Order: sequence, then structure tokens, then C-alpha cells
Amino acid sequence: MPDALAPAVPPKPPQPAPMPATASAPRPKRAADQTSAPVRAMHKLGLLRDIDLALHLPLRYVDETRITPMGQLRDGQTAQVQGVVQDCRIETRGRRQLVVRLADTSGELVLRLLHFYPSHQKTLAAGQPVRARGEVRGGFFGREMVHPEFRAVAPDAPLPLALTPVYPSSAQLPQAYLRKAVQSALARAPLDELLPPALVPAGLPTLREALQALHQPGPSAPIAALEDRSHPAWQRLKWEELLAQQLSQLQAQAARSLLAAPALRRSPADLAARLHAALPFALTAAQQRVVEEIEADLGRPQPMHRLLQGDVGSGKTVVAALAAAVAMGAGWQCALMAPTEILAEQHFRKLVGWLQPLGVTVAWLTGSRKGRARSAMVEQVASGAAMLVVGTHAVIQHDVAFARLGLAIVDEQHRFGVAQRLALRQKLEAQRLEPHLLMMSATPIPRTLAMTYFADLAVSTIDELPPGRTPIVTKVFADGKRGQVVARVRDELQRGRQVYWVCPLVEESEHLDLQNATATHAELSAALPDTLVGLLHGRMPQAEKAAVMSLFTGGVMKLLVATTVIEVGVDVPGASLMVIEHAERFGLAQLHQLRGRVGRGAAASVCVLLYTGPLSPTGKARLQAMAETNDGFEIARRDLEIRGPGEFMGARQSGDALLRFADLAQDDALLQQARELAPRLLREHPRAAQALVQRWLAARADYLKA
Ligand code: ADP
Ligand code: MG
Repeated sequence: MPDALAPAVPPKPPQPAPMPATASAPRPKRAADQTSAPVRAMHKLGLLRDIDLALHLPLRYVDETRITPMGQLRDGQTAQVQGVVQDCRIETRGRRQLVVRLADTSGELVLRLLHFYPSHQKTLAAGQPVRARGEVRGGFFGREMVHPEFRAVAPDAPLPLALTPVYPSSAQLPQAYLRKAVQSALARAPLDELLPPALVPAGLPTLREALQALHQPGPSAPIAALEDRSHPAWQRLKWEELLAQQLSQLQAQAARSLLAAPALRRSPADLAARLHAALPFALTAAQQRVVEEIEADLGRPQPMHRLLQGDVGSGKTVVAALAAAVAMGAGWQCALMAPTEILAEQHFRKLVGWLQPLGVTVAWLTGSRKGRARSAMVEQVASGAAMLVVGTHAVIQHDVAFARLGLAIVDEQHRFGVAQRLALRQKLEAQRLEPHLLMMSATPIPRTLAMTYFADLAVSTIDELPPGRTPIVTKVFADGKRGQVVARVRDELQRGRQVYWVCPLVEESEHLDLQNATATHAELSAALPDTLVGLLHGRMPQAEKAAVMSLFTGGVMKLLVATTVIEVGVDVPGASLMVIEHAERFGLAQLHQLRGRVGRGAAASVCVLLYTGPLSPTGKARLQAMAETNDGFEIARRDLEIRGPGEFMGARQSGDALLRFADLAQDDALLQQARELAPRLLREHPRAAQALVQRWLAARADYLKA
């Protein structure tokens, strides 16, 4: 869908093109016209079927039902006027432009066109009756409209009886054409009520009525309620969409419960128990609880589909290790995937440290591991000699076949792309018994999203940090204070602490990104001549990255200048200060992830956000949220508020899978209603339920499963 959340095509800026007379607009014919430019343009926008057009909703409305007498026009007002052209000439002083004097019985108005064609001069020739619409401005020679919409009309041409909808469209698809196409599609589209009327909340129109009201609102329709989507017609649309979405989640859940998985049960003195006993720390109560939740799932003969969420630093890795130990203790292999090589390597070291002494062989597969080393690993995985495989998405490449995969763990799952998730699912489904799946994320799912996209996902939450952590203090400084910040870095280093200095990813330009980090590295090396300053960025060869990282982890290197490659999961407890340069360029979730790299040891930690003004309102809101709270759940809530759910979670970031009409931040009440109704509808009216899902989600089912 091209307009999942926002219109794919922005409304056209006001143009001096004449409004095409509605009557002369081409009729969208179905077969013969297949290749005409507007039809192709419609297809490009995903407007293929009648229902697609019926659901292609106006961005806004213009009121062409009234004519304002020119004598009553006020500055700043957007109005429609009708009059006779008095005079039309090209002015060449200054910028070349067409200046048209229009008059009605009450007064006069100037129309000013900065771009124009000979055809416009013809339409606007003296003596022509013309209807024009635009914003009125007070000019030197009286009132005027710059770039109005206009067209020639017969003097007694009737006014439209409905508000005129303005649709998201493209240059090849004129509004008038699209309007016609929508109107005829609306009459044909299968919009009949699918639900027993008694189940529709009181006050909501049928879908057909709702769409009619949205596409053809009467002259006195409340434009504001239509545009801000609070109108009952909108409520109906959103409610039905949410209901369909809830139903499809329930169906997916039911389908999953039919799949078979190995039941992975523990024996008293097995691997998990030995790992537990060998850990250098006691689990927090929250870790203990989620381990139990996961174990209960693993013990069932249906595949687990669970998300483990816990704020950065809450200790998810050890929970993953215990889950892996349960699987391996029961005789099944486990795969652990991380989104970056740095993180995968860190997990590998940690898991080898914990599990090798207990006799587990751990394999290691990443993109940079090639040739003989790789084939040896692949062989160990295929034979079952390696019980645990750690790596990046290389773990799911097609040449990797597991002997007996019982559990797949995906760390920082929201960082994986759609394709990678689908590949993983396929890998999992390839076995006769499907493996269990544990996903981990520090980005908690807001409640509303959990209820919609993740309704079929079990969630475990670690809501407690390991003991002894001091909360991170976050300070926001303008870049002008850089000198002070460098002094602060020096102090911290003198106290034997470690420091991260993070440089932003300059949009779409890895090259600039690099320059930025390199320049900062040089600047800090010069300012701190007796310090070993490291540099880490995405373009470095893997071996060099690993070498730098191990110097920093080992505490030899005290100051690390890095791009966002350190964003997820990196765990260096000795680091207590993080400076984030150009913090205004980062997203909120990303800032929170970055900040989570400090505050991992007992030392009081500080995060300094340096920004370069002027700040946009959302940039300001983000920095403020960071300064005000350390709580990942609160950050997620504010993030959702600031940028909407559109980009929230990995695969679902693709607009395809998202709700088109409902807004999770606003439509909580509708969501509740849909959620309550869905199970009952599925039980009592399964056919209606199926038809509704079909209507709304046919094309998206695959994504929702991923
Ligand atoms: P995250 O949830 O962000 O992935 P990690 O698993 O990296 O967090 O854990 C953060 C740090 O806390 C690690 O150094 C880990 O060894 C340590 N840790 C985890 N659990 C505990 C615990 N119960 N007590 C003390 N330290 C712990
Ligand atoms: Mg982690």
C-alpha cells in the first residue's frame, strides 16, 4: 500500500495550472484504457482493485460549494471567487509573470501567475468568465491571489454540492481523474456490511456509508473532524481495520498452536543447573522469573514464540545462555544470532567462557569468516558436534544445515530486516519439528503495539536491573561547550575510567560519517596527547574492528571514538562516560541504546549529549526525554508519541504491515473494542470473520507472520 501511514505522494504545491473542468475529465475505462498514463499512475500507487480506490482517502477537502463576492474578501482568507477577466497582460519588469484583473459586481481581484503557458493566456483572455480559488493577499495594487487554481466557466455554471476531496496523487494522475475513478469504484466495491449489525458499536455507520461520507462529504460536513480523523466515518474505518488485524493475529496464533516442536525438559543435574551454579553472580528476581517462563514454554511440544524484553543492561544474555543450556541439556542444538559482528563476537566470548568449561562446543559463524574455517564450522553444525552456534545472520545462510536445531535465539531482534526474519522462519520451518524461538530486545513494545502486532507473541519482561548500578546522569550541552566536555573527558580518564565518544551517522553518507569520526578522533588525540585514542567505524575491516574492540574491552584503550557500530549490546563495565556528538541527529531509541553502553559497572556514569542548533521541535523533545528519564519503557512511550508507530519495530517498520488508518497512539479505545470483539466473532461468526480478514489483510499476511 503506498499510503500506509502518510500519503506516499505529497499533495502538489499550488500550481498555476487550470483546474480541469470536471465534466471533461477522462473516464477511467477498465479494459481498453489499461495502458493510459493515469491508469499506469494509479497502478503505481497500488490502486488496482475497486476496494483499493474506495480505501484511497482524501488528504483534505476544499470547499468549492460557495463563491465569495470580491468586495468581501479578507487578507489571508482562502476563498473561491467568480468574475470576468478585465485585462490580462504579461509583466516583464522584475520577474516575468502573467497578471490578470478579474472583477465581479462587488469588486476586483488580481490573479498573478509566475509560471504560465500560452494556454493559460487563452483561458484568461479579457471578457472570459473565470472561477478561481486561492489565498487572498493584500498587494500594492489591491487584493490578489498568487498561483490560484482557476478555470473558465459558463457564467451560470452550477456550484458543486459536496466538498471537493483532494487525494494523495502523483503528477501523472490528475485529481479530477482520480475523483471520478474513486466515485465509480465506490459504487462497485464490495463494501457490504460483513458483520451482524448488533456487533457494530453504536453510532458507527456501515463501511459503505463511512466511505461515502469521506469521499463525498456534503456542503455542511465538518471539515475539521474529517481531516483530523475523529469523524464517525473515520471511527468505523479504523475500528474495522483494527478488528481485522486482531482477527488475523488470533488466526496466526491458532495456526502456530498446531505446529509441533521438541519438548525440551530439564533433568535435575543437567547443563542448565550446572551453568546456573557456575555463574559469578546470582540472578535477579526478574531474571529468575523470565527463565522460568521460558523453560515452561520450552517444555511444551509447540514452538515457543516469545519476546524477552528488558532495558539495556538488565542482563538478557545470561537468560539466553540458560535457555540455550536447557535446549542443549535435552540433546538439541541452539543458535544465537546478533545483528552485528561486534555483538556476535562479544556473545561468543561470553558464552564460550560460561559453557566451554561445562563441555559444550561453541561454533562461530559470521560474514567475515570464510573459506576453510567456515566450512569446518558448517560441518560441525551439520554433524551436531557443535551444540551452540553463535553469529550474525550468516547463521541462517542456506549452506548452514543444523543436525537438530531445538532453539533459535535472536538478540536485538528489531535490528534484523524483514528478509532476514523471513529467512529465519523458513529455516525454522524446514525441520519436521519446528524449533523454539526466543527473541530479545531492549526496545520494549508499547502496550498498544503489543496488543496489535504482537498479540500472538508471548512476552517476558525483565523489569529490574542487576544490583549495584548507579543511575546514569544525562546532560545536554550545545556544541559551543565542547571545550568543557573535553576537559571532563580528561578528568574521567585520569580517574582510570573509560570513555566512549560517539559520532553520528550522517544521513545516507557513510563517507561523511567517516570524516566526522576521523576528524573527531584527530581532535581528541591532539587534545589528549598522552592517551591512546581508538577509532571504530563500520568501514573498518572486521579484524581491525575486533582488535580495537578487544583493546577497549581489555581496558588498555581508555577512549574510543566510534560511530553507531557500538550501538547495540556492547558491554564494557569500566566505561562510565559517554559523549554523543550531534545528538540531535539520532532517534530516541537509538540514543537510549547508546547511553546503555555506560552505567554497566558500579561507578556513577554520565552521558553528555552535544547538540548543534537550531533544534527542531522533535529534536528538542527527544533530548528532553533523554535528560528526564532513564527508563526504557518511558523512552519507548515518548518515542511512539514523537514519531508515531510507523517506524517502531523492525519488520513492522515496513509500511506494508502497518495499520493504514488506525493510529495506535490515538485509537486506544477503538483498539480495546476490537480486541474484545475479535475472539467472540471468530467463535460465533467464523465466516464473517474470515471475510473481514480477507477484505483488509489478504496481501499482508506474510509480513504479519514474520
Ligand atoms: P542486556 O540486557 O543489555 O543485553 P547484558 O546481558 O549485556 O545486558 O548484561 C549487562 C551486564 O550485567 C553484563 O556485564 C552481565 O554480565 C551483567 N549481569 C547480568 N545479570 C547480572 C546479575 N544478576 N548480577 C550482576 N550482574 C549481572
Ligand atoms: Mg544485550
